[in-house]
Amino acid sequence: MFDKVLIANRGEVALRILRACRELGIKAVAVHSQADRDAKYVKLADESVCIGPNPATDSYLHIPAVMSAAEVTDAEAIHPGYGFLSENADFAEIVESSGLTFIGPSAELIRTMGDKVAAKQAMEQAGVPCVPGSDGPLPPDESRIREVARGVGYPIMIKAAGGGGGKGMRVVHTEASLLSAISMTQAEAGKAFGNDTVYLEKFLGQPRHVEFQVVADKHGNAIHLGERDCSVQRRHQKLLEEAPAPGISEEVRQEMGQRCAEAARRLGYTGLGTYEFLYENGEFFFIEMNTRLQVEHPITEAITGVDLVKEQIRVAASERLSHEQEDIVPRGHAIECRINAEDPETFAPSPGPIEHFHLPGGPGVRLDTHSYTGYVMPPFYDSLLGKLIVTGENREEAQARLGRALEEFIVADIRTTIPLHQRLLRDGRFQTGGVDIHFLERFLGEE
Ligand code: ADP
Repeated sequence: MFDKVLIANRGEVALRILRACRELGIKAVAVHSQADRDAKYVKLADESVCIGPNPATDSYLHIPAVMSAAEVTDAEAIHPGYGFLSENADFAEIVESSGLTFIGPSAELIRTMGDKVAAKQAMEQAGVPCVPGSDGPLPPDESRIREVARGVGYPIMIKAAGGGGGKGMRVVHTEASLLSAISMTQAEAGKAFGNDTVYLEKFLGQPRHVEFQVVADKHGNAIHLGERDCSVQRRHQKLLEEAPAPGISEEVRQEMGQRCAEAARRLGYTGLGTYEFLYENGEFFFIEMNTRLQVEHPITEAITGVDLVKEQIRVAASERLSHEQEDIVPRGHAIECRINAEDPETFAPSPGPIEHFHLPGGPGVRLDTHSYTGYVMPPFYDSLLGKLIVTGENREEAQARLGRALEEFIVADIRTTIPLHQRLLRDGRFQTGGVDIHFLERFLGEE
């Protein structure tokens, strides 16, 4: 096992990783920007290093600064968390070539999976069903593009191969707007991701977002830990997630999960991985793979009892998986609410000082947050303030717990998404379960 791990991230996930390190007896190094200097998790770490000024490009995304922090502190491994450098293949390569361990899959696999076109091709070869579309990047000539789009059938979606974070996607309803939509997406993608390759796929009208969690070790073993339903989204960004996905039978779960684990074995994948699918009319269509820890990992932990972050660190240290597939028996139901420092109606960011912070508690309630009374939410990074995770014996109990936990939760005087989650919880369609990815936007429109 490692002696010392550097956490190349901030906020709630930095604290989550720090906690895993503590339990494994590993010393943790926190890195921080100037704005995060006084964060409590930074003080909890065994050592901390300031890696630069407030903008992420000058600190959390600045590879030389992160690497020199690892060097001066003698860290053996780097945990990238999610976001920032977590899916940056060049970073993983630099970490490994400096003789350190990158806690994640190989740079090569990050690169393949980070290119959505290559990822879809790899999945198809591994027998995982994908959204029908152009098999590969769009052809260069316009008449061929029209042909491909017609073959797939409108409406279609133009997507950037290097896209992420819900950006670089555009829906096209008719051939008249096809070419202009492609050039707009290309221009955006070139700017945002440094890669203007685009592809197209069938736009599904009412799918749900269902994703499978896999973990693999360096000895050829891979298991799945079931699925999560992340259909409650705004602008392709998840807001509330639950596990298991309502209405998925144990048989289907096992079949899909086994296929994902098998694909991981074939690819030589190691660490945590999430296979994202759109699920419509009983069919699964792969859209992309995330080669890192996910924000919503706690709901899987809640129903399987497996500590995913500790497992991720163990397999990075070349240990064998601590569970066999048969050991994974999901129990109960878990829901996670992302509590963002945002206006619950306009979604405008609401950074600033938190004068009063009161956490809910009691049975089945977990809070993953780096906030506290007196914490100042900086305006420079994403607005995630914390995650409320509730677990119940079944979905009904989980919903009841969520309701009372949201009521107990006090964050003053900044605005948060707590009232939005409360409104959502009162909606009959949400209560029934199985809403599609457009539900939240409809719900907000109706309001
Ligand atoms: P990102 O990497 O930016 O998260 P994804 O490919 O995972 O992009 O897609 C994000 C979200 O966009 C999905 O969860 C879904 O809501 C929507 N989406 C993506 N592809 C399609 C599609 N073919 N049809 C309908 N919605 C889609």
